[in-house]
Amino acid sequence: MKSPTVAELAMVGKTFDFAQKAHEGHRRYSGEPYLTHLVETAKILAELGMDAQTISAGLLHDTLEDVGVKPEVIRREFGESILLLVEGVTKLGRIHYRGVDRYSESMRRLFLASAKDLRVLIIKLSDRLHNVRTLEHVPKEKQRRIALETLEIYAPIGYRLGIRKITRELEELAFPIAYPDEYARVRELLREKEGELNLRLKKFHKSVLKGLAREKVPMLSTEERIKGLYRLYFKLREREWDLGKINDVLAIRVIVKNVGDCYRALGAIHGIWRPLPGRIKDYIAFPKANGYRSLHTTVFT
Ligand code: MN
Repeated sequence: MKSPTVAELAMVGKTFDFAQKAHEGHRRYSGEPYLTHLVETAKILAELGMDAQTISAGLLHDTLEDVGVKPEVIRREFGESILLLVEGVTKLGRIHYRGVDRYSESMRRLFLASAKDLRVLIIKLSDRLHNVRTLEHVPKEKQRRIALETLEIYAPIGYRLGIRKITRELEELAFPIAYPDEYARVRELLREKEGELNLRLKKFHKSVLKGLAREKVPMLSTEERIKGLYRLYFKLREREWDLGKINDVLAIRVIVKNVGDCYRALGAIHGIWRPLPGRIKDYIAFPKANGYRSLHTTVFT
């Protein structure tokens, strides 16, 4: 990630001051100054490595709709590009999920189509992430609608854009509120197995590192994870609620420098464990539409 320039820092500083003034006296359900929501949204965008324009638009994203700032003012103070981003986010905010399953797909399409600039979607996702992080303060009857909308519209869009971290957090936060009984059931099922799963993941991780070292595959980093509860819930429904029938409860991601090392890492792993037939996916030769490139495999451990 490149460091911001002095001009970029000045622009973000200027939008911060502007947002602070525009939202003066404006509070959230939690009682906190509204500015905290804008700063948190901007922080999420910064953590994603977004540019200064996007971060600035993140700070301004509720000025048109919530406090009646005129578009001309944003244009004059911050320029046309930032205005377009803020207007895009405002437009998306007017699309509301009506809670009917068959509308979900068309709504996701509408969302993707209305945002000509992908940065608009990323601001909207960051905005939603902070809103679900603080959902406990929202009136009860609104919570469930927001949680369902998050699962039906926002998380799938995050997934399509390949923003893994946000997608998972959106799902994990919204799931218990959207489907409390189902959440409790998955939680319960996992509780008995959690210790064992963690142990297995740790052991597996260690052997992967050893295998890669033995084959001298240079790698940058690894990540390990237990499948998120919401994703697990989806799979469990299809597999008679039998955790043993889910192949990817545990997963490890190996980040390497180049394509050659990627295939060598796969070779090293298949040298230790037998892969499950039909489960090897080559997203390097066949990248996903969003540009995602990696190799996937499932192995018997
Ligand atoms: Mn907002």
